[in-house]
Amino acid sequence: MITLARILPKKMEKRKEEIIQNITDIKGRIKKACLAANRSPESVKLLLATKTVDPQYIRIAIESGETLIGENKVQEFVSKAESLSDLMYTRHFIGHLQTNKIKEVMKYAQNIQTMDSWPLVEALDKRLTTEGRVMDIMVQVNTSFESSKFGLSPDMVLVFIKKIMEIKTLNLVGLMTIGLFADTAEQARPSYVLLKELGDKINAEYPGILPIRELSMGMSGDLEVAIEEGATMIRVGSAIFGNRL
Ligand SMILES: *Cc1c(COP(=O)(O)O)cnc(C)c1O
Repeated sequence: MITLARILPKKMEKRKEEIIQNITDIKGRIKKACLAANRSPESVKLLLATKTVDPQYIRIAIESGETLIGENKVQEFVSKAESLSDLMYTRHFIGHLQTNKIKEVMKYAQNIQTMDSWPLVEALDKRLTTEGRVMDIMVQVNTSFESSKFGLSPDMVLVFIKKIMEIKTLNLVGLMTIGLFADTAEQARPSYVLLKELGDKINAEYPGILPIRELSMGMSGDLEVAIEEGATMIRVGSAIFGNRL
């Protein structure tokens, strides 16, 4: 990571302009995709995926009005939460989580989007019960059927959700997926269609509650496809902060 002390004021100013311009551009893409899909642009939230991004640059985005930040690695999540603790924003954890790291993540996360195993659910519930807290979560689904990806197998999702609905400390708000990563955005579409179908199926089981309000799907390269298929939250990193090293 770049340390601020070495960043010259002029370079910092230029970086700031770039980040703000990139956010404006992304919002333009969101709006255009929503209008094309007959959706309201307000129906899609922008989460900034800030892994490897220096906290000073994340600060610029938050100070320009962004409120949703997602991190993947526990150490990085905690250290950035601490260095940005003077700011008002919402922290989501969007990386793979191990049960022994739950305590650290819980301290700063308003939402863990990557719940994908029963041991993780049990460990989180246990801690939340001890602390007398409730927490928003999403269930991560492996919609691309790649064995390298985390997330629950689609055929397990309904049973998993039924068990989660019994747990008082967990407030299920939606589903999350990382679509098939391929050369074209179009190749991710089946992943997003599948997540939307799963969400609808779950909501049909709970007509009075409709637990799946958020579908977290779509990234820099394929957000238009995700929005077309029903995303309510897109997670954007490189299109705002540049390519990761
Ligand atoms: C990095 C990351 C993103 C953003 O990807 P970009 O292609 O940089 O926009 C979204 N979701 C998750 C889980 C990520 O790790």
